[in-house]
Amino acid sequence: MASSTKKPLPVQPVRMRAVCPICKTPSYSAGGTHPQCMLRHNDQLAKQQAAAAAALVDRAESPVHHP
Ligand SMILES: [Zn+2]
Repeated sequence: MASSTKKPLPVQPVRMRAVCPICKTPSYSAGGTHPQCMLRHNDQLAKQQAAAAAALVDRAESPVHHP
């Protein structure tokens, strides 16, 4: 029995799947981010920015402590 012949390893197609940075799941979108995740992310960013802006305004408009 000749065992010199090696079977070629089955080549599995390794496709680089972009992982959505928002939900950490493979995405087939061009940018790698699901459109709905992008919307959600943008919404969160907008809320964070709005909260930060509100905090700044609140801090700026807060009355000075009277002695
Ligand atoms: Zn996603």
